[in-house]
Amino acid sequence: MRIAYLDRTVHETDGEPKPNGDVSAISKSIDLQGSVETGDKTTIASKDFGGLYSTKPLALIKPARSDDISRVIKAASRIPRMTVAARGNGHSINGQAMTNGGLVIDMRSTEENHFRLLNINGSFFIDVSGGALWENVLTRCVSRFGLAPRSWTDYLSLTVGGTLANAGVSGQAFRYGPQISNVTELELVTGKGDITVCSETRNPELFFGSLGGLGQLGIITRARVKLQPAPDMVRWIRVVYTEFDEFTRDAEFLVSRDDGESFDYVEGFVFCNNDDPVNGWPSVPLDPVHGFNPGIIPQTGASVLYCLEVAFHYQNGDHPSTVDKAVAGLLKRLRFVEGLKSQVDLSYVEFLLRVKRAEEQAKANGIWDAPHPWLNLFISRSNIVDFDQTVFKKMVKDGIGGPMLIYPLMRSKWDNRTSVALPDSEIFYLVALLRFVSRGPSVEESVAQNREIVEWCIKEGLDFKLYLPHYQSKEEWQRHFGDQWTRFVERKASFDPMAILAPGQNIFERTHLS
Ligand code: FAD
Repeated sequence: MRIAYLDRTVHETDGEPKPNGDVSAISKSIDLQGSVETGDKTTIASKDFGGLYSTKPLALIKPARSDDISRVIKAASRIPRMTVAARGNGHSINGQAMTNGGLVIDMRSTEENHFRLLNINGSFFIDVSGGALWENVLTRCVSRFGLAPRSWTDYLSLTVGGTLANAGVSGQAFRYGPQISNVTELELVTGKGDITVCSETRNPELFFGSLGGLGQLGIITRARVKLQPAPDMVRWIRVVYTEFDEFTRDAEFLVSRDDGESFDYVEGFVFCNNDDPVNGWPSVPLDPVHGFNPGIIPQTGASVLYCLEVAFHYQNGDHPSTVDKAVAGLLKRLRFVEGLKSQVDLSYVEFLLRVKRAEEQAKANGIWDAPHPWLNLFISRSNIVDFDQTVFKKMVKDGIGGPMLIYPLMRSKWDNRTSVALPDSEIFYLVALLRFVSRGPSVEESVAQNREIVEWCIKEGLDFKLYLPHYQSKEEWQRHFGDQWTRFVERKASFDPMAILAPGQNIFERTHLS
């Protein structure tokens, strides 16, 4: 009866479900412990970090616990055309956590449901909520236990569920794999509304399918994350290259070395060979006091240059000369431009929260909230030189108004059983064009250039995948998943029969088959 009330509320909208004031009765009608927000209170769910799309949800559900989510999904499944989307912290770019006229489940309201340290056969794990922010997981784990997860994203105001639905990559992934390689158990509410615990041995299809599963098989309510002892300090270093082949040679050398024989973090970025404050020389130094001396750049330096960014972990008790020696031993193997090196020492937590400081500055300058037409790609090592020649050296040689990241990852650190689509080669590169539209080209120009880059990759037959994918047609999704398509569709049919991948439909909305 109570669900029938919700049913009527939406049916009356005739056709597409539309926001309706009566929907506030949802919480009562399905006995939620949490709350249901409507009208202006859903504004947060009508946009995301990308700032490119805007939709109006029917309601924003703030669940108290997993059984609230289960009830909402079960109720939604009885309503024709009703869609449901989990929202982590809304830091997607292309509306992945939105639904037009549907129900958005705000996972942030579940943050405090789980936080438990486990010691399993001498190894430490933390059970955390799908709606927890990684920055809170970090600070709580380090301050309470002296332990920390092993694999991160660059920016930590993202939820556990939001990054596990994609992959979660940063400069530690070459060693430990992405975040999805560092969880051993999940609790999910499936698209059928079942609350299910899964792992490598328990319901493995759901476990692996939902890691990188774009929120399509279920909503992650708890994750068991591997921990390791947290270092006290980090030496964070940047070195500059004029030649792309030397940059990639050194980056690949570092990510291919055994544990203990390399840096603890390896990333890189492309920057313009000019004084542009965002993409040029000033974007490189870690220590602003010493600045960047362009006089040192060899004549061979072209329109863009390359910066390798590495980090070395150590403890307060380590003698400074031991740290210096270990770092110097690694750096001496690299071919960067002598004199173009900068470094700082900072605490491990400060290092991991480095983008938060950039966020605070950008917010103060009014830049953070600008639109972000970002493009994230995984590109095979075999195609990265072509990509540099055409994209970095020509298409974006004048900068994009934000960072242009490029760093290698190792496929063997990823589990083929997850849903993430990757290039075929063992070494592939993450390329991220992180545009802030208040600077540089307009939104339209940026979106058009992103499209041009992707179309060029397709035309040239590059072995690449979109990271954080967003497509509208079934054909595009099929091409994205490639050989994994059938497996993904079968998993979807098992765990979320409500959802389909149909032309013109956003994969992220749960929609009836009928
Ligand atoms: P949302 O945007 O809210 O949701 C993303 C997707 O996950 C949606 O499809 C949503 O339905 C689904 N989802 C959300 N919660 C759950 C859940 N509990 N269970 C199942 N599905 C769920 N990514 C990297 O890998 N590495 C980086 O270094 C990195 N840096 C970033 C820096 C910034 C400033 C930003 C804005 C993004 C960055 N990202 C990075 C991308 C980021 O990881 C993804 O966009 C991520 O999805 C955002 O997390 P969120 O919590 O905001 O998720």
